[in-house]
Amino acid sequence: MLKGYAGRILRVDLTNEKIVRQSLPAKMAQNFIGGRGFVAKTLFDELPPDVDPLGPDNIFIAASGPLSGQFLPASGKTHFGCKSPATGGYGDSNLGGHFGPALKYAGYDMMVLNGRAALPSVLVIEDETVSIRPARNLWGMGSLSSETRLKEEMGEDFQILTIGPAGENRVAFACITHDFGRQAGRVGIGAVMGSKNIKAIAVKGTGSIPVNDPKALLEEGKRAYRNVRAKPGFTGWTPEGTAGITDWVARVGALPTRNFQTSYWDQHAKINGAAILRELKITDKGCYCCPTPCGKYGRAKTGLGHVYVEGPEFETISLLGSNCLIDDISEVAYANYVCDELGLDTISAGVVCSWAIECFEKGLLSREAIGKDVQFGDLESVVHLLECIARREGVGELLADGVKTAAQKLGHGSEAFAIHVKGLEWSGYECRNAPGMMLAYMTSDVGAHHARAWVLGHDLAGSSASVHDLIVSEGTGEHLPKSKVTGRAAKVIESQHLRPLFDLLGICRLQFMELGFEVENYERLYEVVTGKRMTLEQMLSVSERVWQLTRSVSAREIPGFGRSWDYPPERLMNDPVPDGPNRGHCISRREVDILLDEYYALRGWDANGIPKAETLISMGLADVAETISQWACHETT
Ligand code: SF4
Repeated sequence: MLKGYAGRILRVDLTNEKIVRQSLPAKMAQNFIGGRGFVAKTLFDELPPDVDPLGPDNIFIAASGPLSGQFLPASGKTHFGCKSPATGGYGDSNLGGHFGPALKYAGYDMMVLNGRAALPSVLVIEDETVSIRPARNLWGMGSLSSETRLKEEMGEDFQILTIGPAGENRVAFACITHDFGRQAGRVGIGAVMGSKNIKAIAVKGTGSIPVNDPKALLEEGKRAYRNVRAKPGFTGWTPEGTAGITDWVARVGALPTRNFQTSYWDQHAKINGAAILRELKITDKGCYCCPTPCGKYGRAKTGLGHVYVEGPEFETISLLGSNCLIDDISEVAYANYVCDELGLDTISAGVVCSWAIECFEKGLLSREAIGKDVQFGDLESVVHLLECIARREGVGELLADGVKTAAQKLGHGSEAFAIHVKGLEWSGYECRNAPGMMLAYMTSDVGAHHARAWVLGHDLAGSSASVHDLIVSEGTGEHLPKSKVTGRAAKVIESQHLRPLFDLLGICRLQFMELGFEVENYERLYEVVTGKRMTLEQMLSVSERVWQLTRSVSAREIPGFGRSWDYPPERLMNDPVPDGPNRGHCISRREVDILLDEYYALRGWDANGIPKAETLISMGLADVAETISQWACHETT
């Protein structure tokens, strides 16, 4: 019996309504730990060739990790995976809440859905009973409303995932919602769920998880909670949660503003963490077993209506707030609510809306095309666009496939200010004076997402002393000197192994990232749960293995995949920041190539960014190495 795991995989063939339970292979647990590792391994092994991300043959995965559902701080993370409709390559996204633990208590570490249900359906898992039930009455309903309805019908004991109209209509940035405000937002995972005709997944688990040393786990768990509570940030970080970083990001000139036209906005204090406490917050809200509930549940009152909403957290503030020039925290929270109910990722939605507004300002999209005049700083404009997108109505048909595809269709130079990497819209940090963070976005395996690596602080305070030291020629548009670009890759790679480690274990990284709960603690916690010894170094090498695998999945799935897929948009390469602390800065194409050359060399990839066979073999991925020459596009120059 595998300790720390439920020990089984649940497979549901939705087309044929066939349900199979399979033992979790011990080798998979050992080599890939869980969560994101299980997702990567399953996508590599099981995706059929040339599969349409929104066709029935794509697979939808939900996976927890060995620490998920245990008596440990913040142990409620669940990872989801698919071939991404946003990028066409490797895709994963995660959420907190209570779903992963419930799935484990029902007896499953991972769930894999294939095929497509004949009718809109709810997948119900209650321990050994698994059923596919009709959900016609829910189709068209919002994510939050659907969860409310299902809780009323099925009971509070069920943990529920839902999609909104955006997922039903296969919007490329549709999300999954859970626990009335927790989202797996990225890569279009909600569209894949919708493409399978699955409106909701409800799980109730009443079992338990075998643990190697329950007594030691109880002691270590208590110690971990005491340790977290004793951290200096414990009382300071929780009240505002992630929104607490807003002022710092603005001060260092990294706040996306007006569709990334600039990186500083003097109105940031109107939408920061203090504004949430002052104007919105009713209570804190946390995930399973979390001692630091970072969710802020509150009430937003705007001219468009009054709503109860969880959030906004920093990313939403950044993309729906400053990037759309909304300078009222209640209005940002309202837009957050609209996204949640429609089932849209707030990050991508903010980028797509701001791009559309800029297109309107430049005369590239007409009033007739959009259905009304739209402008930055106007909540009604943003809500109009969100509703069009989720229903694919009017201009929504253009915007619903994401900013990359919309810009390719519209043309007229709009590609230059479509802010994405690989087709995934850029999240909350502007990087024209932060080369390490720029590289982190460029090389993130799912597209432009901060959760894979975050080195902005290092950019500003580490090897380069301070943001002001980086300013070599303020106002002239001169580029960063070579010395400021080189030497970044190692730090990015270190972060790319460390951050996703928590995604393997099934635990929230914020205890470590925000409070300084030492990562070495997880060696002992992993051991008391699983009975296996794994040093931090060994865990990080698993994380590295997964990184090589996710890159390989994208190299196989995306025709012509390589270096060009890692480039940032033109705006961030060629347009110097016009004002604020980083005025005059940008990172040129030549500098981007220096960043990538160094990164690829350290990763053991060729000049086109494709993992070399010897690299894959050294990472224990001989099966991947055997096939890579058949599908990867290698370059030597
Ligand atoms: Fe959830 Fe926030 Fe706690 Fe992490 S810190 S487990 S995201 S409530």
